[in-house]
Amino acid sequence: MAVKPKVTNENSTVTGFGPAVNEKDAEKLRFMEELTKNADSVQERVLAEILSQNAETEYLTRYKLNGATDRETFKAKLPVVTYEDLQPEIQRIANGDRSPILCSHPISEFLTSSGTSAGERKLMPTIREELDRRQLLYSLLIPVMNLYVPGLDKGKGLYFLFIKSESKTPGGLPARPVLTSYYKSEHFKSRPYDPYNVYTSPNEAILCTDSFQSMYAQMLCGLIQRLDVLRVGAVFASGLLRAIRFLQLHWEQLAEDISNGTLTGQITEQSIREAVIGGLKPDPELARFITKECSKGDWAGIITRIWPNTKYLDVIVTGAMAQYIPTLEYYSGGLPMACTMYASSECYFGLNLRPMCAPADVSYTIMPNMGYFEFIPVDGTNGYNTCNGGAHQLVDLAHVEIGKEYELVITTYAGLCRYRVGDILRVTGFHNAAPQFKFIRRKNVLLSIESDKTDEAELQKAVTNASELIKPYNASVVEYTSHAYTKCIPGHYVIYWELLVKKDPIKNGKSGVIPAEVLDECCLAMEEALNTVYRQSRVADGSIGPLEIRVVRPGTFEELMDYAISRGASINQYKVPRCVNFLPILELLDSRVVSAHFSPGLPKWAPTRSD
Ligand code: AMP
Repeated sequence: MAVKPKVTNENSTVTGFGPAVNEKDAEKLRFMEELTKNADSVQERVLAEILSQNAETEYLTRYKLNGATDRETFKAKLPVVTYEDLQPEIQRIANGDRSPILCSHPISEFLTSSGTSAGERKLMPTIREELDRRQLLYSLLIPVMNLYVPGLDKGKGLYFLFIKSESKTPGGLPARPVLTSYYKSEHFKSRPYDPYNVYTSPNEAILCTDSFQSMYAQMLCGLIQRLDVLRVGAVFASGLLRAIRFLQLHWEQLAEDISNGTLTGQITEQSIREAVIGGLKPDPELARFITKECSKGDWAGIITRIWPNTKYLDVIVTGAMAQYIPTLEYYSGGLPMACTMYASSECYFGLNLRPMCAPADVSYTIMPNMGYFEFIPVDGTNGYNTCNGGAHQLVDLAHVEIGKEYELVITTYAGLCRYRVGDILRVTGFHNAAPQFKFIRRKNVLLSIESDKTDEAELQKAVTNASELIKPYNASVVEYTSHAYTKCIPGHYVIYWELLVKKDPIKNGKSGVIPAEVLDECCLAMEEALNTVYRQSRVADGSIGPLEIRVVRPGTFEELMDYAISRGASINQYKVPRCVNFLPILELLDSRVVSAHFSPGLPKWAPTRSD
């Protein structure tokens, strides 16, 4: 049962947000006004709905909720949990146990998060009605955008959207990323025509798991309809940059197909061929134009050169994606970047109500009807206030304070109860009574190129794994740090290694010089040890490039420490940063590099889970 706020002022297109372009938008905007004005009472109702819907579940019974649906009892009795705490229950559901363990509604599928646990994607159980809730949030995007960008009904959106391969759990439920689930749903495939939301990409191109064929078809359709394109987007910035890279690599083939009105034999998927061929006719003039623009070797402003009517980029550049802002600015000639939504596999959270603001000013308003939200205050010095006795200190959505940082905790209709998402958010203001949050960071993420998230322990394990290969040379890694290199597309991980190579060869070992091929193999050994999301991005998506080890000369990490101390770090407390982004430090490291090595192959990855 969705929470429906009272709709007022029904016959006017004037809303609290200002005039809407039509009555349909006005209705959506009024809906948001009501939700945000009544954030606290909507939250109270959402919690009561979730707790009564799931009252008989094994989980709520275990904590003796006895049918209570009020906040006090909920907070007093239910612990704040992490994925690892719920893993036994989740595993039982995945293995086919259909009893109401976490949720009274049948689990329809598992959403595979880009967050991992023990190297595997986390599995989030979901229920059918959650699709409606996600759809509801999507339906609010265009009414908000229409407030800021006029005339979106006069053209189309060129969106590079992709699905990923899916697997089945031992119990037979599909396990796939949330966007794959959404694009494959009737909500997306059979969406009603909306002149404000027309895509250049045919569904068939989006719904192909072969990333080359999917991208090729989407790019071709985007080029053919280039003058219709009013916005260019992808979910995350990294996805849009991959599309630009694809154009750089394949424009000749694309121009040839456009010139001849043909479709390359590399597109073997029949449904894509049928969907695309109808729109193709020989257009040598367009082919010449594309050739002229792409053969210059100058890619600055390519987006606006090819799609001159683009008003904005629709792409998330907050959080880990902020590293791509300068590159996107370069390719787009400084077009505005709209970050519209904040969402996860566990729950869709909210929207940016000022989508045309600068990336640094983006705040997301959590919609209080999506789930029940609580916030752990982040203690600036000592990490997080996590003790269970502190569970009642969690702050409710309507009561967070401006300027403070919190870790997000959610309770969802699908059965997650007081679940720590791992995102750290800062309150920047309120829209009515609903707080707005700046995404600060994901907890424990050291390296990220696209959806991959590598933490310190995973990096440590990878270094340990790889350093086995240099042991026969009487060598070891004495210090290391890392950097997500995104100046070229695809980006890749750079790991700086300082080695200690002992002069005396060890028994049965080799002389004290490590051959370059061995260090190349170390790169691959590191990749083998990284989590499944990393390896999938390397192998199936090609969205991360080969890992690089840069060997720095002995003493470099001591210099790093001297530098930190000269800037005020305490010598007693100094720890080697396991990831560096600060330019002077990167420059210092790079000036001490003695050799660079790249992974010579692809790590192992298979679409099925290993458990
Ligand atoms: P997943 O569970 O794989 O869908 O990843 C969800 C996570 O992606 C969130 O918990 C955030 O850490 C991150 N994320 C999603 N939307 C945004 C956004 N708009 N800005 C920054 N990070 C985001």
